[in-house]
Amino acid sequence: AKHEGKNGVRTFQPVMGSETAERMTLEQDLREALNRQELTLHYQGQFDAHTQALLGFEALVRWAHPTQGLLPPMKFIPVAESSGLIVPLGAWVLQEACRQAAAWNAQGQNLTISVNVSALQFEDPAFLPAVQAALDASGLNPHLLILELTESAVLNNPEAAAQQFIRLKALGVRIALDDFGIGQSNLSLLRRLPVDILKIDRSFVQDHREAPEDAGEVYIGVMINLAHGLNLRVTAEGVESSEQLSLLEELGCDSIQGFLLARPLPPDDAAATFGTRGPP
Ligand code: C2E
Ligand code: CA
Ligand code: CA
Ligand code: CA
Repeated sequence: AKHEGKNGVRTFQPVMGSETAERMTLEQDLREALNRQELTLHYQGQFDAHTQALLGFEALVRWAHPTQGLLPPMKFIPVAESSGLIVPLGAWVLQEACRQAAAWNAQGQNLTISVNVSALQFEDPAFLPAVQAALDASGLNPHLLILELTESAVLNNPEAAAQQFIRLKALGVRIALDDFGIGQSNLSLLRRLPVDILKIDRSFVQDHREAPEDAGEVYIGVMINLAHGLNLRVTAEGVESSEQLSLLEELGCDSIQGFLLARPLPPDDAAATFGTRGPP
């Protein structure tokens, strides 16, 4: 339990719940992980829905934990968010993803790099300078950097978000609305925000798998038509079967991401897929 110390400082007593203790250990470990460079990025290919050519990658953070192995983001991003560590962590991800993409492009590729941005990171005053710094340090063409934000990240304050989007777009970067369709998706949000790409959440894509007659198909079609009507590109995530792929292609989806075409891979394995195509 927490107790107020003499000077109002909270001290933690040994009776503290084990969940809280675990969380604090994780937070301390994560702080050190950032300094020790235990974080690493995996890269999942994004492909043209029609030609299946590789267009770029989404960078997905992992933590090479000294004792627990490779941890997925769900194990530490929430702690990073609640502790504020998401700001330096997110800055590192931006820096590293841009560096890697620029290095690949210097070898003759012309790949986009998509980077996930948390709500708290987006709202932090250090965010815009961090984007600028990552672009400057890497020399990456800003148009090839895609920032992925969820609707929930912008819903807190759509007006402020719109202003921030305009500043980001002035740097030349593009913005994707991630997990589209599952939140409080509303049309006025899309009207107000200068977004470039809609990413259809995988729950819509995968609905279809077990129930071909499912209305998921209708929603996907509506989302694609809406996006195209607004001059946005559409990426579908979570594509696991060739049936899903052909349906999405038929419905006019622009880009495809999912285990069918590529899993998230360490940089060298990702680079080994250059010039190859996903399954037909
Ligand atoms: P997301 O942005 O929706 O990323 C896609 C997630 O779906 C990834 O999980 C990816 O491995 C997984 N995925 C891709 N294709 C398929 C598929 O065909 N089927 C299935 N079942 N899953 C697929 P991952 O890497 O565990 O990341 C989970 C979430 O963690 C991401 O969801 C994103 O919200 C967050 N995240 C990842 N990297 C970062 C980061 O650098 N910063 C921040 N703030 N969040 C991150
Ligand atoms: Ca994403
Ligand atoms: Ca997503
Ligand atoms: Ca998702």
